[in-house]
Amino acid sequence: MVKLITTRPKEKALLVGAFRNGESPGSIMELEALAISAGAVVVGQITQKRSAPDSAFFVGRGKVEEIKARSEVEDVDVIIFDDELSGAQVANLQELTGVRTIDRTNLILDIFAQRAKTREAKAQVELAQLEYLLPRLAGRWSHLERQVGGIGTRGPGETQLESDRRQVNKKIEHLKKALKEIDRQRATQHKKRGEVYRISLVGYTNAGKSSLFNQLTRSQAKVENRLFSTLDSTTRILKFPYFPKVILTDTVGFIRKLPHHLVASFRSTLSEVLEADLLLHVVDASRPDCREHIAEVKKILVSIDAAQIHEILVPNKIDQVQGGALPEMGGGFWDIVPVSALKGTGVLALTNKIEAFLKSIAFQQQNGYRLSS
Ligand code: GDP
Ligand code: MG
Repeated sequence: MVKLITTRPKEKALLVGAFRNGESPGSIMELEALAISAGAVVVGQITQKRSAPDSAFFVGRGKVEEIKARSEVEDVDVIIFDDELSGAQVANLQELTGVRTIDRTNLILDIFAQRAKTREAKAQVELAQLEYLLPRLAGRWSHLERQVGGIGTRGPGETQLESDRRQVNKKIEHLKKALKEIDRQRATQHKKRGEVYRISLVGYTNAGKSSLFNQLTRSQAKVENRLFSTLDSTTRILKFPYFPKVILTDTVGFIRKLPHHLVASFRSTLSEVLEADLLLHVVDASRPDCREHIAEVKKILVSIDAAQIHEILVPNKIDQVQGGALPEMGGGFWDIVPVSALKGTGVLALTNKIEAFLKSIAFQQQNGYRLSS
């Protein structure tokens, strides 16, 4: 995959979003945060209301002209679409506007590639990038063939495409094997740990998971006001009088339209979530759209088969909530404990609640009840 924003910092980006009626503009605001996170300067946004995406350009032809004009005026380096584009759409847009065009998935993959530190995270991101690229190879070549003009070019074009595909597939197989091996090693390590309880922090990116992790463990996980600063899970032991071995894990945050390839290849990192006895679902309660964030996280939990695990909802940043009144957070939680991970407010109450939960499942285990609800 082409390196996008990483190589030249402060590239000028123009954002483009298309909305169906009733959709919230939250997604494009988030795209702006993502673009900034990747090191770009956002010079403008262009949106369009559409019922269905245009097969050639995603947006309407007139919109493309507007995008082109705006790109020229602002001297834009990269156009970023809020939705996933096909290879052909990217090629068409680039041809018409003369500006490099990427989509939200591409941008998120790029940020993940920048942040990946360990061998595992790097392999997971690369796998997701290649799987994103694979179906787009064809679009590229058929587009080139059309440009060159059919006869005579088709043979070499297809050969090139075939060999590209073969190479990408080979790389994918190789990465999958490497990841399986890392996964196997982890499984053996887990077995050695013996009888323990596991708790995972989950939540939207920037909700305050790492801050809460630090409060609960008094350690120094990286806290940053940027998206996806935590890609690898961090683990610490929590100590309770009756439960000397409770493992707390800080995980990667979730976001709307998280590329499905990324979710798939981060499955093993997310397996920490799957193995948990309890999830601390952290949400930024100071955001007006916090319910949407909760719903999005729930959706991802369903997609990784973690929906049956008990959750304590932890509305965070209550120091920032106007008037101190929390919005309605919805149901489906074992309990709800508001905190300020920054100030430490409510952290003791949360610790007590965690202990109460552990007692209840220990009681169930002693009496032979099933663990999951
Ligand atoms: P994560 O992405 O969920 O791990 O979030 P972080 O723990 O990295 O925090 C994201 C940002 O929110 C950082 O700038 C934190 O300082 C800030 N933050 C976290 N908890 C609180 C809180 O309780 N109150 C306020 N005001 N800010 C917080
Ligand atoms: Mg974090």
